[in-house]
Amino acid sequence: MGKLRCSVCGEMNPDVLTNCRKCGSTLPSRFTSLPVKICPKCARSNPASRETCLYCNAKLV
Ligand SMILES: [Zn+2]
Ligand SMILES: [Zn+2]
Repeated sequence: MGKLRCSVCGEMNPDVLTNCRKCGSTLPSRFTSLPVKICPKCARSNPASRETCLYCNAKLV
């Protein structure tokens, strides 16, 4: 989908990677370790396992 820039060495990495392919540093990926869903109503982050928002109870997509 996109690219992530390594904050250590500046290498551009595909966002499917969890670590920089050049220096091995952990990348700040939104898609790894803790998947979240963004509430369409209040824009807060919810665990991906949630069906409804923890905060406003809107249906998550
Ligand atoms: Zn790097
Ligand atoms: Zn919400």
